[in-house]
Amino acid sequence: MSMTPKDVVAMAKEKGAKLVDYKFIDLPGIWQHKTVPISEFDESVFAEGHGFDGSSIRGFQGIEESDMLLIPDPNTAIVDPFMKEPTLSLICNVVSPDMENYSRDARYVAQKAEAYLNATGIADASYWGPEAEFFIFDDVRYDLSQNAAYYSVDSEEAIWNTGKNEGPNLGYKIRNKEGYLPVPPADATHDIRSEMTLVLESLGIPVEAHHHEVATGGQGEIGMRFDTLTNMADKTMTFKYVVKNVARRYGKLATFMPKPLFGDNGSGMHVHQSLWLGGQPLFFDEKNYAQLSQTALYYIGGLLKHASALLALTSPTTNSYKRLVPGYEAPVNIAFSARNRSAAVRIPMYSKNPKTKRIEFRPPDASSNPYLALAAMLMAGIDGIKNKIDPVAEGFGPMQVNIYELPPEEKAKVKSVPGSLEGALKALEEDHAFLLEGGVFTKDLLETWISYKYANEVDSVRLRPHPMEFKLYFDI
Ligand code: GLN
Ligand code: MG
Ligand code: MG
Ligand code: MG
Repeated sequence: MSMTPKDVVAMAKEKGAKLVDYKFIDLPGIWQHKTVPISEFDESVFAEGHGFDGSSIRGFQGIEESDMLLIPDPNTAIVDPFMKEPTLSLICNVVSPDMENYSRDARYVAQKAEAYLNATGIADASYWGPEAEFFIFDDVRYDLSQNAAYYSVDSEEAIWNTGKNEGPNLGYKIRNKEGYLPVPPADATHDIRSEMTLVLESLGIPVEAHHHEVATGGQGEIGMRFDTLTNMADKTMTFKYVVKNVARRYGKLATFMPKPLFGDNGSGMHVHQSLWLGGQPLFFDEKNYAQLSQTALYYIGGLLKHASALLALTSPTTNSYKRLVPGYEAPVNIAFSARNRSAAVRIPMYSKNPKTKRIEFRPPDASSNPYLALAAMLMAGIDGIKNKIDPVAEGFGPMQVNIYELPPEEKAKVKSVPGSLEGALKALEEDHAFLLEGGVFTKDLLETWISYKYANEVDSVRLRPHPMEFKLYFDI
């Protein structure tokens, strides 16, 4: 159902909103917001925008051209469930003072990617189902048995947590890698996930199921029903907001950091995806391997051929590469398979219904900016279809065995995902023409992304002594 500015003003009145909150995404992928009292809110904001200082937003403008505007999208109106006073919340696009869309506004990139798909004539809709896993912790200090420590970057010192502060363990603490599906009280975060689920549903985000995930530490997953690209990226932002804020209600911390615990599963954001044309699914063909159509195979070819570059946007933190290692259900191989969770592309085989035929790309995690991550995957898939990139001919599979356990000489033939953020950024520097098609990603955005990631993340991690170095070298 499409909302007009007028509808939103009426909704604000009907819900008794005293304030209106404008949310938008910075370049790395964190929501920012500004709030106005209801007296300042009318239909004009949808055309004229609301100003903010773009020079103080990560990855945005230089100080000399700092004035920017937020244009709210009427279709995103909800009442924010976490603000004390009744507050209407709107997701915004970012524009310049002369009302030009801003090339570093990730939401605009997602919108352009959808328009580009339409323009190719290949499909008129793409459906997305990201599974953003997360941990619910009591504290951010980890114990030594995990060989992890809390390094206080602010005070520039490593603090070893001896575990002395650990409270009573009332939850039959789940052993590493044994968290998938036990009932309470072992599943000590069940009620928190249920509350998250109900809040999501109340915001118009349908949930299919929630469950404890494989790792200890209250790792969870709440599966949202699929939606189109920009809508799904919006929902992913709302999802992270709900998960973090409901955890806070319980005095806990939710984190989407991809690999907070050494020696246990990390948190991924596998992304299920499919293309449709004229109301018909394009990924199903009964006759073929895993019932994949030729279109689906080419789409997979595009994802896998561009995988290394793609990961700079889908798995874009230094921590992402601590997750993408063998043995934790995270993919390490640039391959596809109908069964295999070690392959970057898995074809779910739960159902034989053509409408549910989809592929799952497993490298992404929720440290990504979802608008950029989904748009980039779509662009890789489109490139595969346009250039008929056959994943079988390219040597990407199908792999039926557990690739983690292949003999070394066989394993050597399978390409691996980059081992570091730096590796992925280098790949993106070399391979990004597919993202620039149709003006979806701009050179400016990619250059900004790469230099931001090097300066703020790769280098700031590389230059600091690591807690593990204290353990290894302090007594040398
Ligand atoms: N947590 C795993 C990952 O990092 C996935 C586990 C699962 O969903 N089967 O991708
Ligand atoms: Mg799942
Ligand atoms: Mg999962
Ligand atoms: Mg999955």
